[in-house]
Amino acid sequence: MSFEKKSSQIMDPSHDMHDDFDYSHHLQMVLSQLNGDEPAYPMDVGDVVLDDVHFPKPADMAAMADAEDIGPPPTTNEIIEDILENVDNYPKTLQILMLRGLLKKKQQCKKCEKPMHLRRRKCSYEWRCRTKDKKGDCSSCSIKSGSWFENTKLSFKIIFNVLVMHCKNYSSGHMSSILKLSTHSINEARRMVHELTDRIASRYPRIGEKTKDVYLEIITIKGKNDVYKVLAGQEIGTNHCFAAVLNDCSAALIERIKTVNVDPQAKVTMVKTVKDDDPDFASVAAIFFDEKKYYVHARDQFFCNLRENPEEHFLSTRVTLQSWLNDQVVRKTEGIKMMEKCVEELKTFTSKTSR
Ligand SMILES: [Zn+2]
Repeated sequence: MSFEKKSSQIMDPSHDMHDDFDYSHHLQMVLSQLNGDEPAYPMDVGDVVLDDVHFPKPADMAAMADAEDIGPPPTTNEIIEDILENVDNYPKTLQILMLRGLLKKKQQCKKCEKPMHLRRRKCSYEWRCRTKDKKGDCSSCSIKSGSWFENTKLSFKIIFNVLVMHCKNYSSGHMSSILKLSTHSINEARRMVHELTDRIASRYPRIGEKTKDVYLEIITIKGKNDVYKVLAGQEIGTNHCFAAVLNDCSAALIERIKTVNVDPQAKVTMVKTVKDDDPDFASVAAIFFDEKKYYVHARDQFFCNLRENPEEHFLSTRVTLQSWLNDQVVRKTEGIKMMEKCVEELKTFTSKTSR
């Protein structure tokens, strides 16, 4: 079968699955909160606490975080809206995150293994084991212990705002100017998001199951000090895909990466999405695939986006490039569900058994 024929078969616009690929609603929620007169972020680190926010007693906090839902459980989208609406209210945010399993609502003391209790400090909460010994309390730990937020001092507001804008595909520079934050903070929050997308991408099954068509391309990405080769693949007719940085260009390595990522039954075609990409790979028989014509919207393209869009920040090492590739894979696979997928992934951190 010639490529031309295949191409016309699959030009069906119904394959453009991300037609409503738009996070406008979440983004508007975030932006409207930023439009107020108060400074968006008085501090770059720590949680923003407003004077008129009520901090409930620890027992009340715990009870609210444990409340049973009346009626059907909320959708992930409803949970996200709830978080974004309350992100200026620290105690309320904690309650939502605990109630929805995004923060631990129980902690076990690492010293004596007894259940810990919430303690209210001036304008924050922490976990404390009140088993007394001669020196006083047994142990205490952060409210963020055992969650995705554990290793950051960034506020929930910053993290969730970056998550929304990240899913909306904002550049670091754009985020930094809208959120009035240093690129350092933006990059820290984005590394956290990449921790999610790395985990999500690692669980995707191989592409091309049930003899589906798979296109593979070797893509060259120029970093500041290095030139990287990437093997990328997409299943035709769905959004399934993968991308892996190549440590060398040997046929053996390419075969190995194919074995991991592509079903042995798949119908594989090597393609090129640019006509004169790489003289090194002139020997690889590849058919020209006009991806920009195939997908109406640039956001649905995969190979071209990998080649054209990486920010310099992600090109410093193979590891950061691989994380960026994983992010692109999740973006393409999930489409408008990317934000929901990320928030659902947060639960896998708190459900880990401790220690
Ligand atoms: Zn203890």
